[in-house]
Amino acid sequence: MTVFGAALMERLERFAAFSEEEGALTRLFLTPQHRAAADQLMAWMREAGMTATLDPVGTVVGRCEGAAPGAPALLLGSHIDTVRNAGKYDGNLGVLAAVAAVGELNRRGERLPFAIEVLGFGDEEGVRFPVTLTGSRAVAGRFDPAALDARDRDGVALQDALRDFGGDPDAVASAARMDTLAFIEVHIEQGPVLEAEGLPLGIVTGINGASRFSVRVGGMAGHAGTVPMALRRDALAAASEMVLAVERVGAGTPDLVATVGRLDAKPGAVNVIPGEVLFTLDIRAPVDAVRRTACAAIHAELEAIAKRRGVTLAIKPGHQADAAPCSPKIIRQIEAAVRRAGIRPHHLPSGAGHDAMAFAGVLPMGMLFVRCRGGISHNPAESITVEDADLAVRVLLDLIRHFEHGAP
Ligand SMILES: [Zn+2]
Repeated sequence: MTVFGAALMERLERFAAFSEEEGALTRLFLTPQHRAAADQLMAWMREAGMTATLDPVGTVVGRCEGAAPGAPALLLGSHIDTVRNAGKYDGNLGVLAAVAAVGELNRRGERLPFAIEVLGFGDEEGVRFPVTLTGSRAVAGRFDPAALDARDRDGVALQDALRDFGGDPDAVASAARMDTLAFIEVHIEQGPVLEAEGLPLGIVTGINGASRFSVRVGGMAGHAGTVPMALRRDALAAASEMVLAVERVGAGTPDLVATVGRLDAKPGAVNVIPGEVLFTLDIRAPVDAVRRTACAAIHAELEAIAKRRGVTLAIKPGHQADAAPCSPKIIRQIEAAVRRAGIRPHHLPSGAGHDAMAFAGVLPMGMLFVRCRGGISHNPAESITVEDADLAVRVLLDLIRHFEHGAP
C-alpha cells in the first residue's frame, strides 16, 4: 500500500531527466533545463487541479482554491534547482510531494477553508550565481535587488537570464506574498540522524545559524633536520592542537557542530617545519546565543594554544547567518500529524540551509524531514525508499487536512 510513494518515486525519476548532463543531474537556476523542468512541473500541477504560473523571479506557483475563492493560502514547496551531479530528491521531493497531496485532495473533491499554493523555487543551491534563496526571499518580501546584478561565471547577469527564462526583473516586488498563512517544506534530511533513529520522518525545530572564520597561524619555518624540537615554532603542530580544540567544543555542546574543513600548511615540503597554516572554521547551532558562546570559547582556546606555543594567530570572520527557528505552532501541528501516522515524533535541527529560512520571522514556518540513506546528499547516491516517500505524502496530506492557522 504505497500508492503515493510509487507514483512520487516514478515522477522524481522522470523529473531528474531535466538536466544539463546525460546520465547525471545538474539543473541550475534560469537555464533551459530549469525552464523545461518548470514547464513539466506546471503541467503536473494542472493535472492535480491547480492553476500554475511563473512568478517574476522564476518560481513555479501552483494554486488550489479553498472553499471560498481568493482565500489566503497555505504555502508548501521547496526548490527545483540542483547542485552539479546532484541527487534526485534534494528539493524536488518537497515540491512533488506537495503536488501529490493537492492532487489527492482534488481527486476526492475536498475543499479546505484556505487555498493551497505549491511553490517550486529556482535558486536554493546558489550554484550558478553568487546569490541564494532568490525565489523564496522574493515570496517572503525579502529580495535584495542587488541580486539582479549578480553574474554567472560566463558574465551573464541574473536579470538578463531571468528575462530569457520568462521572468520579469522589474516586477520582483510583486512576487512578495504577505497574504498567506504559513510555509511548510518537506525535504530530505541530508544527514544521518533519522536513519540512526530508525525513523522515516523527523520534525525540524529550526535551521541552524552559522558562523565561518578563516584562521591564520604564523610560526617559523625551518630546516626539519637542524632545528631542535624545543626551539621550534611549528605552525602545523599548533594548528593541529587547535583543530582538536574545535572538535572538543563542538562535541561538548548539544546540537552544536564545529568543523575545520580545510587546512593548508606552508611551505608544504617534507623537510621543512611548517611556518604558516591557514584553516577554515564553520560553527553551527540552532540557537544563536549557543553559537556565539561557542565561537567565543573556540577563539579563547585558539588564543591560549597560540600563546603557549609562541605562534601568532589571526581570526577573520566570514559568512554569518542567524538561526531560523521553526514556528512552535507549526512544529506542534507537524508533530501531531506524525503521531497520527503512528510514527514516534523526533525533533531535530537542520544543519543545512533551506528555502524555509527565508520565511522565518515573516510567516509561521516549519519543515518535515524525510530519512535519506546514509545521510548522503548533494551526490548521485542520494536515496530514499518508496515507503518513506509514501509516508511523506500521507503525513503532509493529513497535516494539510488538519491545518489550523489560528492554532496556538
Ligand atoms: Zn535542498
